[in-house]
Amino acid sequence: MKSLRELYRIGTGPSSSHTMGPQAAAKQYLQRHPDAKAFNVVLYGSLAATGKGHMTDVAILRVLEERGPVDLLWEPSVFLPFHPNGMKFATKQNDGSLSDEWIVYSVGGGALSEGNDTPSAHDNEKLYPLQTMEEIMAWCQKTGHTFWEYVEQCEGSEIWNYLREVWQVMQESVERGINHEGILPGPLGLQRKAPVYFTKAKGYKANLQSDGLVYAYALAVSEENASGGIIVTAPTCGSCGVLPAVLYHLSRGHLFSEERILHALATAGLIGNLVKHNASISGADVGCQGEVGVASAMASGAACQLFGGSVAQIEYAAEMGLEHHLGMTCDPVCGLVQIPCIERNAFAAARALDANFFASLSDGQHRVSFDRVVRVMKQTGHDLPSLYKETSEGGLARIG
Ligand code: SF4
Repeated sequence: MKSLRELYRIGTGPSSSHTMGPQAAAKQYLQRHPDAKAFNVVLYGSLAATGKGHMTDVAILRVLEERGPVDLLWEPSVFLPFHPNGMKFATKQNDGSLSDEWIVYSVGGGALSEGNDTPSAHDNEKLYPLQTMEEIMAWCQKTGHTFWEYVEQCEGSEIWNYLREVWQVMQESVERGINHEGILPGPLGLQRKAPVYFTKAKGYKANLQSDGLVYAYALAVSEENASGGIIVTAPTCGSCGVLPAVLYHLSRGHLFSEERILHALATAGLIGNLVKHNASISGADVGCQGEVGVASAMASGAACQLFGGSVAQIEYAAEMGLEHHLGMTCDPVCGLVQIPCIERNAFAAARALDANFFASLSDGQHRVSFDRVVRVMKQTGHDLPSLYKETSEGGLARIG
């Protein structure tokens, strides 16, 4: 598994796989071919199907057009074998011929792969020797340590400065979002909801207020993402509202120190990293269970740790956060990261608090392990037809 720096990426929305990844690929191509003056780019599969709504073209052209003209081609019905988010970059010569072709895949969370399991240039850290929850829990049992301490052991103490920056950006995205009124970009004309939800939630008594506030915070971050604001992938742009909402809510409501929030961020990152390594966090690959489902698992584990959960209870909370999102499809209306994505973040944040409470009532014993649910999620995702995996051809996208 790679560094949490590869999971928590600070950048602009609306999509880590369709915006951040392709933009990073364009930058890499420019670095590899400093003499190229004109370009040909082909987008395949899901990238082509929902790329317009996700602003994939804008992300690529913003980089390459600084150097020269770009021919951009869309091939939504062509799926390259390694992953549904394929791209082909080439240099266009004066006579119109193409050279230096490079096929690369945006595999989720902003990460790139060249399709042969060889890590790409920006993606080459392998810091975590233990690669399953079961192995990590055995380490915890043997050493007496917990999850965040395993992160510190693998990443070194420098990780805390990075996570502090991540937490700062997460808080800023909540605070911008709950003050930002108006319409989101795109043809849906969707009104931002976070400011009104925040105000109304404040008027309720404590138990209802808690759900209302966590909805408002998740809406705030997801609406910032949908409008191209600065957010943190957790684990992706589309699912970026869940974890900040839960942590912000708990940090304000229960006065947890920054240090404890950073420890919770580390544990959440470890949970997301396990899914990324052993399955996928790409909606185009496994549907929304891999994005919002994983975000909910991360937030569930983080919340459970903050409330003093044991290693077994944290694992149980994370397992439930994912298990109860199994099979969730990705069908964004008009290819925009808005419907169902934004509301879905709010519900997943509330569900993470439920998973924490449920696990806290238990002794941590349960039948379906986190590792098993990750394997099931991967298989379920691969069994889903492609029209439910970020192609905007089925489900809500069809009737939208
Ligand atoms: S439905 Fe889920 S996976 Fe699909 S774009 Fe929205 S947040 Fe991402």
